[in-house]
Amino acid sequence: SSDHYDAIVLGAGAAGLMCAAIAGQRGQRVLILDHGPNPGRKILISGGGRCNFTNIQCAPDRFISANPHFAKSALSRYSAQDFLDLVESYHIAWHEKTLGQLFCDESARQIVDMLLEECAKGAVEIECNVTLGDTTHSDGHYSCTLADRTVRAPTCVVATGGPSIPKIGGSTFAYELARKFGLKIVQPRPALVPLTLGADEALFRELSGVSADVVTISGKTRFREAALFTHRGLSGPAILQISSYWQNGENIAVNFLPDHPTGFLSDAKREKPQQSIGRVLSGELPDRLSTALLTKLGLDGEIGSLTDKRLNAAEERLKSWTFTPSGSEGFAKAEVTVGGVSTKELSSKTMEARSMPGLYVIGEAVDVTGWLGGYNFQWAWASAVAAGEAIALK
Ligand code: FAD
Repeated sequence: SSDHYDAIVLGAGAAGLMCAAIAGQRGQRVLILDHGPNPGRKILISGGGRCNFTNIQCAPDRFISANPHFAKSALSRYSAQDFLDLVESYHIAWHEKTLGQLFCDESARQIVDMLLEECAKGAVEIECNVTLGDTTHSDGHYSCTLADRTVRAPTCVVATGGPSIPKIGGSTFAYELARKFGLKIVQPRPALVPLTLGADEALFRELSGVSADVVTISGKTRFREAALFTHRGLSGPAILQISSYWQNGENIAVNFLPDHPTGFLSDAKREKPQQSIGRVLSGELPDRLSTALLTKLGLDGEIGSLTDKRLNAAEERLKSWTFTPSGSEGFAKAEVTVGGVSTKELSSKTMEARSMPGLYVIGEAVDVTGWLGGYNFQWAWASAVAAGEAIALK
């Protein structure tokens, strides 16, 4: 009947559109359902409106998951170059910004239009503004109750993403559906998110607007990028990156002098003992930042008046300044979610649930989270292709 499909894809985001296009072009009758007003809303606002659609340095070690091996298969089957080939086949102009990050020259809208065109080639039906009611499984079919009818298919793809940015459609729908079908969830947390500082670190909040090139450190993980002080705490790429590894209650360390050799302050003292320590540091860091750090360290005056011991201790702190964030700005501001449907439940080749034949989970809904820089879209594309191809082979 008209309400019977080969596959129903829940979520018209990056992963859902890609998966539907692949399956549709391979002859499957596919329906996509989304509760938002239009498809690809996160793509449209991504990368500052230019969509950082992939990263040419993509490698499995740039993804966070309880099982760091899980993403390997899909990522190697559908590479950053494969997506770039698709982009180029649509004559979408692109550029590499930094660290392998590829952006559209013009607009993220081009990526959404490309995916919609790919869906059209596969005669995919897309329905937006849909309120998904109950989803059930019986007799080898998944049934989704909509306001006016029930749609059925032997295959159901969960591509509703994570709870990051509820304002533009983020939801916990994937977790609820997965739990209902008995699949485990790895505790979701906001990631790629600004961190907040408590009252005891208020001095740093006064630096709002100051940015510096630093290394952020959490355990064995480090990122060399810009950090930005905000009126609530810390942001900027180096902080967003480390936030994905940070857990409530933990410290993060910041190296404010990543390029300076050990002993740099005592060397400066020997070279120009009359120079003020403030002067020495402000040559290396933004003025307001060096002033705040020296205040915290209780240092001022001529560098020559300070013992090597104090200078070395100060240098050590400047190279590993610890912050204890009071929290993060939460899902309202998080670019992605770490955690999600446990990879233990899924085949790494097809994204199909081991215990629920015909149920697939792809994209951000899965416990695979990429670094900042196009990695999350590459996971969305790769996991979508893995599922789309598998569905068509059924
Ligand atoms: P989504 O793209 O979020 O799609 C999920 C879809 O499911 C949405 O259309 C949503 O409306 C729908 N949905 C959710 N719940 C329901 C429900 N209950 N019923 C029906 N439909 C539902 N990543 C990068 O790689 N590069 C970037 O430049 C980048 N920039 C970003 C900028 C911002 C501001 C944000 C928030 C994220 C950014 N990301 C970026 C991350 C990237 O957008 C996501 O990782 C990616 O969109 C995940 O794809 P997805 O298809 O799994 O989920």
